[in-house]
Amino acid sequence: MIIYDGKAVFEGIAIGKISVYTKQEQLVKRIKVDDPEAEKKRYADAREVAIEQLKGLYEKAVKEVGESGAEIFEAHQLMVDDEDYIESVENIIDTEEVNAEYAVAQTGDNFAKMFAEMEEEYFRGRAADIKDITERVLNALLGAGSGGIETDEPVIVVADDLAPSETVQMDKDKILSFVTVHGSANSHTSILAKTMSIPAIIGCPIPLSDEVNGKLAVVDGYEGKVYVEPDQELLAEKKKLLLQEEEKKNLLERLKGKDNITLDGQKINLYANIGNTKDLGLVLENDAGGIGLFRSEFIYLGSDDYPTEEEQFAIYKQVAQTLAGKKVIIRTLDIGADKQADYFELPKEENPAMGLRAIRICLTRPEVFKTQLRAILRASAFGKISIMFPMIISVDEVKKIKKIVEEVKESLDADGLSYDKNIELGIMIETPAAVIIADELAEEVDFFSVGTNDLTQYTLAIDRQNQSLDDFYDSHHPAILKMLKMIADAAHRHGAWAGICGELGADLSLTKDFLAMGYDELSVSPGRILPIRKTVLETNVTEYKKEKGL
Ligand code: PEP
Ligand code: MG
Repeated sequence: MIIYDGKAVFEGIAIGKISVYTKQEQLVKRIKVDDPEAEKKRYADAREVAIEQLKGLYEKAVKEVGESGAEIFEAHQLMVDDEDYIESVENIIDTEEVNAEYAVAQTGDNFAKMFAEMEEEYFRGRAADIKDITERVLNALLGAGSGGIETDEPVIVVADDLAPSETVQMDKDKILSFVTVHGSANSHTSILAKTMSIPAIIGCPIPLSDEVNGKLAVVDGYEGKVYVEPDQELLAEKKKLLLQEEEKKNLLERLKGKDNITLDGQKINLYANIGNTKDLGLVLENDAGGIGLFRSEFIYLGSDDYPTEEEQFAIYKQVAQTLAGKKVIIRTLDIGADKQADYFELPKEENPAMGLRAIRICLTRPEVFKTQLRAILRASAFGKISIMFPMIISVDEVKKIKKIVEEVKESLDADGLSYDKNIELGIMIETPAAVIIADELAEEVDFFSVGTNDLTQYTLAIDRQNQSLDDFYDSHHPAILKMLKMIADAAHRHGAWAGICGELGADLSLTKDFLAMGYDELSVSPGRILPIRKTVLETNVTEYKKEKGL
């Protein structure tokens, strides 16, 4: 077994034979010509052929990978028709009195070099596009076809680099994975691989020869590794992973787009928990109905200083726009305890989990709180945002928070900035105190979301960070389950809705109980949404309640 390391650009496992893809190198000769005008005409005809081909590829790609994945072929048409490029080719033909092929190859080299030397990675990625369209025009001039892979069975394609057109021309059903020696993560080949949802690895120093051609290999798009001629143990391990992936994909296909509704017609919202904008792809991929917990403190933790209103606004706006009208619940700063940022200069505490954290920091540093609230409220003009406050213990706190929110709204009015005037406000129920006074709290807010991680820690007096207490940490403790019922009931008595956003919400062994308690929402890691949907679709709540004597 030989292992090659590269950079994974799309996750997944592929197992199959390798097919080394070789391009048909065009040998371009420099030939003196008597009639430069005739060469320019040949060049113009070749451009037309290239454009026709690109239109065809665009149509094919739209069908296979959708419009955004196909856009590259529109961009290529523009590049073939680019004035600077054409001018350079015609100038070489005229001044050097040479054949069109040579002028095109020269121009292609010069332009590709120019892009390759640019600072921004995006532009460096465009060098591959220049090479691609140059090759295409050369093929049209020479009347040549393009290289490719010939295979009856699906293969792992290994190549030096792959141009987008080469990628899309390949028969999708025959490709298990792409592995390239070169290529950038922003290249369109990577983008297309992602859109085609096949594992892809770039920057992998794998030989393009019979050393690997035709051999069995495993591509691990999680680790960025290619195992050629894997040993039995590794093969068995990766096959198991592949099987799990396939089961997940099947589940996804079957359950995507379905409502979360039980056999007897009870609905529940299944939302996603996220820490930053990188998770948005997973939110959409797993068909979340919204975001039930955006842990905004990660913006602060990933920063060397207090994030500004503008920085935060840009992030919240992006999330709201991406969710396109679906609910996005942003939890305000929950820093302190295990989440520390140096610039807050928080005092050292004997008992940080019970110390200056979350809403307590916001209420003692109103300027930090107000900056965040302004950013969230401004973003609420771009989607459906709700605000949620962590670690609440009293009605008085909620009243103070609401007063600050009103002040921030007034400041936005004064600045002529728009926001959702009816923005929903909710609180996390994470402390036993909040459970006990849930009725009073419910009168003040639109919703509750239970933070079972902290609620369990504070109820059982077990530090959630202390691994040595794992055996004592009983997440199904009857006290917690009773509290969950009390919370949902209190919310409903006062016209508020109730959800769970702690880890327990994703516990499939309790999904039926949460439905029986009447929870309106569960917010979980994106990957847990569809398995929960499956349970919801298979549940009859009325019967379950009867069975359990509830
Ligand atoms: C919780 O406590 O359950 C929760 C969701 O908040 P965090 O895990 O971020 O403290
Ligand atoms: Mg918490």
